[in-house]
Amino acid sequence: MTAETPETLAGGRLTIDRDALADNWRDLAARAEGAATAAVVKGDGYGIGLEPAVRALAGAGCDTFFVAVPEEGLRLRATLPEATIYILDGLFEGAAATYAQANLRPVLSSLPEIEEWTAHRRQNPAAHAALHIDTGMHRMGLGLGEAEALLAGPGLADTLGLTLVMSHLACADTPDHPLNQRQRDAFRAVRARLPDVPASLANSAGIFLGPDYRFDLVRPGIALYGGAAVNDAVNPMRPVATLEARILQVRDAAPGETVGYGATEALDRPSRLAILAVGYADGYPRHASSSDQRPGALAFLRGRAAPLVGRVSMDLITIDVTEISDARRGDWVELFGPNIPVDEVAERAGTIGYELLTSLGRRYHRRYRP
Ligand SMILES: *Cc1c(COP(=O)(O)O)cnc(C)c1O
Repeated sequence: MTAETPETLAGGRLTIDRDALADNWRDLAARAEGAATAAVVKGDGYGIGLEPAVRALAGAGCDTFFVAVPEEGLRLRATLPEATIYILDGLFEGAAATYAQANLRPVLSSLPEIEEWTAHRRQNPAAHAALHIDTGMHRMGLGLGEAEALLAGPGLADTLGLTLVMSHLACADTPDHPLNQRQRDAFRAVRARLPDVPASLANSAGIFLGPDYRFDLVRPGIALYGGAAVNDAVNPMRPVATLEARILQVRDAAPGETVGYGATEALDRPSRLAILAVGYADGYPRHASSSDQRPGALAFLRGRAAPLVGRVSMDLITIDVTEISDARRGDWVELFGPNIPVDEVAERAGTIGYELLTSLGRRYHRRYRP
């Protein structure tokens, strides 16, 4: 972690609304109805900061967390001594003792892992784990055939100390994709063989697919942070992260002049331009650039949208403030937040809100509210 950059010395300012994060968790927990609601906090809490994120979530009532790697699990354990912590990437070779010390539960996903975990459990019978079944994504998880073979033997749940059986949906963001039902049905069949083990299938988007996708525990990530879970639907979540950039200077430019590297955009009117102190080195996507062929992302100042002009460079962005006559040096311009949804910037850049959030840079002044 880098030292906190003071606001007066930062080109960008990132504000994290912890109340919105807690509200989003409570909102999803209400939507999950009968199921328990965990929180996925991998990727440094989707870019907003692991420790502040989990403190706010625990305050809202969340007691079960998923991270990707054991290093994140150790950080989480240091913050929340009582929480249930699952490691989605499973058991790292030779690391079982560390998992045991910090009470981290691996999400077991392959036969070699299961073998290593079985040996570990002979010495540590109190250790717990989850089992991940691949129901059609072909990323993590035991294949259905492998699972079938294991389940044919006796007492798998006891041998592994299973507290969760899970799978992951590949297309939950597309509600009418046929793979959703196929995965749900395959998961139902496997979990019926482990009737005493709680089951989990739904990520954020899965919660919105309906009650038969929720099982015993739901695992939202992106929706907690205000990102859009479901494609082409109204996003009901509150924005959590607001990114703003400092105006370094405001300048005039004449019609026909071009802006930025590559001279990709020519002005078609007398323009006022504001130069902002954030760029792709801060994780703002270069693909959000504007050109004569293709409009770029929007920024927001004093109640008005201001379009990017020309290319995003490493440390600088140019926006058009011709219509915002009082824009001036030192103003903070919203790059995403309550007025410019992170997913809208992501879409202009050909990516997703997840990537923008988890790419948030290290140079920002970070403010956690309240
Ligand atoms: C990242 C992840 C989630 C959370 O997904 P969102 O789409 O962010 O809600 C849930 N489960 C698994 C296995 C994941 O990898």
